[in-house]
Amino acid sequence: MKRKNKETTSKARETPHEADVAEILKKLQAQGLKRTQTLVRLLKFMATERRPHTLVELAASQGLEERNPVTLYRMMIKLERADVVRRVNLRERAQHFELLLPGSVPDYLVCTKCGDLKQVETPPEIDTLKNLVTETTGWKNLRHELEFFGICPRCTA
Ligand SMILES: [Zn+2]
Repeated sequence: MKRKNKETTSKARETPHEADVAEILKKLQAQGLKRTQTLVRLLKFMATERRPHTLVELAASQGLEERNPVTLYRMMIKLERADVVRRVNLRERAQHFELLLPGSVPDYLVCTKCGDLKQVETPPEIDTLKNLVTETTGWKNLRHELEFFGICPRCTA
């Protein structure tokens, strides 16, 4: 890996959401969380690998290998409280966590047989619904969580 990238042409693939991570760290520090190496690595990993992860996966991720899962779990709880990660309900015993990045939250199809996960485009109707709810309730900064459960093509075959 290069340490400094000049002008990257293929942004989406190369840039590990540095700006997003920096912003999240700023927010966390404002809330009194310490900027530790583990925290920075964790956020970078979650920003780059944008999908729900179990703690086991995270503990085994690069740079975090020797971390204690309990420490990781405690950190995750703090991040959840700070609205930086969300817990994704995948109907499995293991908890999954996903980083909340600016913009829309990805929605998922979840296979109830093999646990496979597929990101799906959020239907535009959801935004219409969100706006309607904002108007009728006066609540602000709404976000939604949507998971579709079903059987994937591989398990159907
Ligand atoms: Zn399946």
